[in-house]
Amino acid sequence: MATTRITFLGAAGTVTGSRTLLETQGKKLLVDCGLFQGRKEDRLKNWDPFPVPVDAIDGIFLTHAHIDHTGFLPRLKRQGYEGPVWCTAPTADLARILLPDTGHLQEEEARWANKRGYSKHRPAQPLFDQRDAEAVLPLLKPVPYGAHVRPTPHLRAKYRDVGHILGAGFLDIKADRVKDTRKICFSGDLGRPRDTILRPPSQPYNVDYLILESTYGERLHEAHDLCGTLAAAINAAVKRGGVIVVPAFAVGRAQSLLFLIREMEAEGTIPELDVYLDSPMAQSALRTHRAHTADLNLEARKLTLRGTDLFKTKHLHLTESRNESIAINKVKERAIIISASGMATGGRILHHLSERLPHAENTVLLIGYQAQGTRGRALLEGKESLRMFGGDVPVRARVERIEGFSGHADYEEIMAWLLGFNRAPERVFLVHGEPAAREALAGHIRKQFDWDVTIPNEGDSFILDF
Ligand SMILES: [Zn+2]
Repeated sequence: MATTRITFLGAAGTVTGSRTLLETQGKKLLVDCGLFQGRKEDRLKNWDPFPVPVDAIDGIFLTHAHIDHTGFLPRLKRQGYEGPVWCTAPTADLARILLPDTGHLQEEEARWANKRGYSKHRPAQPLFDQRDAEAVLPLLKPVPYGAHVRPTPHLRAKYRDVGHILGAGFLDIKADRVKDTRKICFSGDLGRPRDTILRPPSQPYNVDYLILESTYGERLHEAHDLCGTLAAAINAAVKRGGVIVVPAFAVGRAQSLLFLIREMEAEGTIPELDVYLDSPMAQSALRTHRAHTADLNLEARKLTLRGTDLFKTKHLHLTESRNESIAINKVKERAIIISASGMATGGRILHHLSERLPHAENTVLLIGYQAQGTRGRALLEGKESLRMFGGDVPVRARVERIEGFSGHADYEEIMAWLLGFNRAPERVFLVHGEPAAREALAGHIRKQFDWDVTIPNEGDSFILDF
């Protein structure tokens, strides 16, 4: 039997660029095909030649639709990849929204770089454009959760629930051998046990090799009552008499927030408010969530069966055109404006912030991670003004941070998931974490379970008994 080899091509020492190559039974399979994001030295890697000849790749599995797991696909396609890209149906639907948008952003960035003349490439080229992204979509092959994909007669792969975002799955790949069966499990991004709308992560069994994410390998989420905190913040904001502005990630976060607002209105813990979902992308993602209620958690499905429209608050406004978006400026009180991007790096949220921040009666709710260098982070740190549209906008509105929306398990939740494994995997590889997070999680796993844990570097290969 041919040797099986696993090679870590990205997200080894960082949290972006997830790509793992599995060479087995004469096939080359890629698990995730992500874009490097964030730091410039990471982003530059997107321009490197792909480490495997594109025509040698037989198939690609996606664990979920986030760009750091899917965003390199258009580039591969442009370089000639024509093989299957397997993923769950909701992941395919979300990728149809996210990939073309990313292509469009790449084009905008290149255009901007040319205008300012700051690119090394002259003229600056987009990594890929919207058409490249659209060209990859026909390759997506949706697979139901739990159904087998057979990349070879002796390999069976399937997705199971992992929480995190709609459509996400951990991937089990089984090899049927003459005397036994072996299993590799790719966690993808591991979600949380009690998400607002998503099913909790399922329990894998009989795992021989585990490829495990470690984003929160050294951190714990604060335990608290999300609905209670959110209701208190909204009620206080309503009392001050202004409007509430929420920068939210268009996929996942915006829909969870709508779900919670609907719940709180129904329970009477907040008053009925005008809610504006002002992001074309969040509205597309909303349609995707509505199309896949069967893939949500029991509570959400129970409400669906009772005829509840999960994301429909009492007075929900889905604004489409720019003019409708601008018209929201006339609203002066008892309203929540949800818009993207989640860290206020671009998008319609900017015009809402520039309109609302100068007035003390308004409130900005920060419900997501705010990376360094973003306007969201500046607000979080209490900056007195924000740079927008070439001017300085004074921050007089109240800024509140709401914790508890994270889509990643913290290390106790990861450890609890591992405790449910019926036996020790032969070897665990930690990926998708900053160096300190991976080290910390490796320490926890060794100390608690005494399992064999490896922290691979980018480009490292390992031979597996598979
Ligand atoms: Zn993710």
